[in-house]
Amino acid sequence: MQISRKVHALKIPFCVTTPSGVVIERFVYSYLLYGSEICLIDTGVASSEQVIFDYIRRTGRKVGDIALIIQTHAHPDHIGATRTIKAETGCRIAVHAAEKAWIEDVDLQARERPVPGFASLVSGQVAVDRTLEDGDIVDLGCGLKLEVLHTPGHSRGSVSLLLLGYNELFSGDVVPVTGEIPVYEDVSELVSSIKRLRAIPGIHQLLSSWDDPSKEAEAYQRMDEGLAYLQRIHEAVIRVSGDDPSPEPLALCSRALEELGIPAAVANPLIAKSFASHLPLRDRKKIL
Ligand SMILES: [Zn+2]
Repeated sequence: MQISRKVHALKIPFCVTTPSGVVIERFVYSYLLYGSEICLIDTGVASSEQVIFDYIRRTGRKVGDIALIIQTHAHPDHIGATRTIKAETGCRIAVHAAEKAWIEDVDLQARERPVPGFASLVSGQVAVDRTLEDGDIVDLGCGLKLEVLHTPGHSRGSVSLLLLGYNELFSGDVVPVTGEIPVYEDVSELVSSIKRLRAIPGIHQLLSSWDDPSKEAEAYQRMDEGLAYLQRIHEAVIRVSGDDPSPEPLALCSRALEELGIPAAVANPLIAKSFASHLPLRDRKKIL
C-alpha cells in the first residue's frame, strides 16, 4: 500500500504459539522507501521476502533495486527475512550497535531472549554492514534523507527514523498499543523515548511496526495513548506487587495481566521482564 509519495507499507501477518499452547495472532509492518534505489525498514518474519518481492514487482520496480535494509531493532519479527533478502539482492544492512550481535548471531538472541517459535520466525543470521548512532543521517539519494533517533526502552538499540522534509516518522516498536501485550526492557527509557518522538513538531504520519499508520493529530494521540497505557501498567504492577520487595516474576506477570484485562495464559518471561522494569519505580505514583 502506497501511503505517501515515497513510502509504501506492507502489513505482514504471523502467529506465535506460547508454551501453554495459546496461539497469538500478530502482524508487523515493513516499510519501503522508493528512491532511485529502495530502502526497506524492517523485513517482517521468515519468508516475508515473497510478499515484499511480489509487491516491488507489482509496483513496477525490480527486487534488485533494494540497496539497503535498516532495522529498527533486532527482534525476530523485524529481521526474519533479512538474510534471504540480502542473499538475493546483495543489499547492505544497517542497525544500531546495541542490536548488532543479535542479528549476526541469532542463536545468541534465541538463548538470551527465547521468544516462542523463534526458529520459525527468523531465516538465519546475517552480517551487518553499518552501525547506526543517534543523529546519523542516512542519505538514500533522490533527496531522501533519514535521521536516526536512538529511542531505547523496547530494546537497548531501538531506533526511530525521521524522513526529513516529509516528516514521516518510523517508530518500530517504540510506541505501545493500548490493550496489546506490553513488551519492553526498560520502562523509564521507553517513556523518555516516546516523549522525545512526541516533541517532534509537524509529524505527517506515525509509521509504527505494530500499529496501523496514523496521520497528524492522530499520530500525536497514539503517542499520548501509549504513554497513558504505560502509566496504567505501572499502577497495575505496583498494586499487585503489594509490599513484596521481590515478587516472583511470572506470578507477578499473570496477576498484572489479569489486572489489565489481558488473559493471564499469555504470561511469559518477556512480559514479566516488562513488568519487572516498573519495580525500581515503585515509590512513584506517576512515571510520565
Ligand atoms: Zn520488538
